[in-house]
Amino acid sequence: MVYSGPQKYPGASLAYWYQDNYGGTQMEANVCVWHTTEGTTLPSYGGGASAPTITAVPDIANRRLKWYQHFDIDRSARALVNKSGGVQTNSANCVQVELVGTCDPETRDRWRAAGRSFIFWPDAPDWALAEVAKFVRWLSTYHRVQIKSTVTWRAYPGSYGNSPVRLSGAQWNAYYGHLGHQHVPENDHGDPGNIDFARIVQHALAGTDTGSNVALTEDDIRKIFVTDGIIAAPDGQVNNTHWAFASYVKATHAEAVEARRLAQEIRKYSLDYHGKLPDGTEDPDDVYEYIRSTKEAVIRVEKAVDRLIAQLGE
Ligand SMILES: [Zn+2]
Repeated sequence: MVYSGPQKYPGASLAYWYQDNYGGTQMEANVCVWHTTEGTTLPSYGGGASAPTITAVPDIANRRLKWYQHFDIDRSARALVNKSGGVQTNSANCVQVELVGTCDPETRDRWRAAGRSFIFWPDAPDWALAEVAKFVRWLSTYHRVQIKSTVTWRAYPGSYGNSPVRLSGAQWNAYYGHLGHQHVPENDHGDPGNIDFARIVQHALAGTDTGSNVALTEDDIRKIFVTDGIIAAPDGQVNNTHWAFASYVKATHAEAVEARRLAQEIRKYSLDYHGKLPDGTEDPDDVYEYIRSTKEAVIRVEKAVDRLIAQLGE
């Protein structure tokens, strides 16, 4: 059997790779099962014995998910119970994702009281859902997991055990798309609760490029603003040695300030001039009319320069 499609999610760390110890079985992924870890850090998964395909750890400060991949996409993972008899679970063509955080309102309240930083996935910030959606979109682009979810995502703890949303073996075998641990037969767990999967689907369908559309950290942005060699120089040199974005802003601002100073000087002169020479006698040249007609144009230039300076945040 030959794998189809890329087996590694771009950007995912392989520092916790378990396929060498737990080979699993090859498959063609067409389903994705979502879990929540009920912790705030990357779990050890018993050295891989209960690991999913991939884990997403929230980097809340930088509003992105850090991905750790443990098995190939088209290789069975190990985060589901599979009872003897019945249907296959882990090896039934499902990618499995663990989202670090909780779906349990009691845990949420306890962690909040303790001042911990975490994501309560049923009320996840939109950036986190957008990050999840990038993976959802990638799965549909390179594998057979469609961007759809036709199950009902039930709130925990009502989703635990034999709840109304858990699928039968036949329904599970016939399912395509995204669902949660709470929907998988032969399993009791109710994660990931009532995560807003409709919003994730919305993001995934709206997304255009999962390959390079990576969220910038504050450090990235700082680098772009102040580091030389990234922004092209004004003379068109792409690999400039000293012009950064901040240099442009500074230089443009200085030019605008100088232009305003000149405009004010011209304006002052035009207002003070009353057709007299410095000795008080009348100026024989009729320049007053000329100055008056240009005065308005000068004021317009001055206002435009003021607006430019205001935009640059003097
Ligand atoms: Zn689970």
